[in-house]
Amino acid sequence: MSKPPISSKIDTRFLEPSPFADDGGEFIGKDPRNIPISDLRMLGHPESPIKAIRANCLDCAGSMSEVRKCVMHDCPMWPLRMGINVFHKSRNVDAPIKTTGSNMAPGGERDDGEVADV
Ligand code: SF4
Repeated sequence: MSKPPISSKIDTRFLEPSPFADDGGEFIGKDPRNIPISDLRMLGHPESPIKAIRANCLDCAGSMSEVRKCVMHDCPMWPLRMGINVFHKSRNVDAPIKTTGSNMAPGGERDDGEVADV
């Protein structure tokens, strides 16, 4: 079964008339900087940018294994798709990725769909 169209999920509380004349009064998404945090939390989005990228990749690719195998290296999210900021200063490519339990697969990806917080 395919996903419902995005328009069926839009909550009009998070829309506002466009301030740009060229848009002719069309409603656009509210600037999140002007939405109370409690309302943003109610929407249930990840609060960490890295977790948001991971969630987007899962939505894009459809499964953890497909995110892991993604070949679109020109996508801006590709280096971050495993839910870890590989550009962080403390990253050491010579050290093996930590696995902390039997539910960890190689690469730090857990069998339950989550990625280890590193
Ligand atoms: S890196 Fe880009 S193309 Fe690959 S799964 Fe993530 S969003 Fe999709």
